[in-house]
Amino acid sequence: MSTPLAGSRALITGATSGIGKAIAVALAGLGAQVIAHGRDADRGAQTVEAIEKRGGKARFIAADLTEPDSVRRLAAEAGPVDILVNNAGIYEFGATPDTDDKTFDRHVNINLRAPYILAQQLIPPMAARGTGVVVNLSTLAASVPARQAGIYGATKAGLELLTRVWADEFGRSGVRVNAVAAGPTETPGTAVTPGLAEGLATTTALGRVASAEEIANVVAFLVTPAASYVNGAVVAVTGGQLAIAP
Ligand code: NAP
Repeated sequence: MSTPLAGSRALITGATSGIGKAIAVALAGLGAQVIAHGRDADRGAQTVEAIEKRGGKARFIAADLTEPDSVRRLAAEAGPVDILVNNAGIYEFGATPDTDDKTFDRHVNINLRAPYILAQQLIPPMAARGTGVVVNLSTLAASVPARQAGIYGATKAGLELLTRVWADEFGRSGVRVNAVAAGPTETPGTAVTPGLAEGLATTTALGRVASAEEIANVVAFLVTPAASYVNGAVVAVTGGQLAIAP
């Protein structure tokens, strides 16, 4: 088995479910020591078990990303990492008039402020060591208007902009920062709303939902040395867009 990430430590947020769990398993399979983050300790233990069963190494840290102090504690407990995957995120749907302040703040705090604080805490030590990789999880809804997903898409559009800012800010120090914009993906998160992912899938050129592993595969590529000249990119893993037609 090829282990291009041997000797590296990777923090993956939201690794207790869906895409984050698939990323954690994929990176551990490439030799990284995984720090799996989430809130739910039972699901955290399941991620660690899935990795260890495959011969990998992992530990779990619980932290609620809505609280800035809790995000800082997560960074401190994780310690120096070589790879940071800002995957944890929420998507709650609603039209603009129906989106209350609490919903707005939750999206901003979890989807934007938490990755920002983790970048503040964890990228400078990477830069000081002259090496590191960050991948931020974004969405098609950050660049295409998605009905009922305005504030969700706006927070992810902000994260895409920060991806390019950090790529510039830390690129000369040997740290690469990229994003993956995922299309509709089958996860416990999307399963909460029956028909959500399947409905969105009809707007893709491939005409189907993605598996979490199909998104994780691209994240895995981006964090390996094979992607050494990829920086500041937002890689679309969306199944392609349907053409408009007369
Ligand atoms: P999911 O199944 O709902 O899992 C979300 C993860 O985020 C869980 O591990 C959850 O931890 C964690 N999380 C949520 N709120 C948190 C909080 N307040 N504090 C700490 N952790 C929190 O999500 P998913 O569908 O795999 O999506 C993962 C990422 O991909 C998100 O950023 C999402 O926006 C993006 N994305 C998803 C899709 C899709 O179709 N699924 C498409 C495009 C982009 P616990 O369960 O332990 O609480």
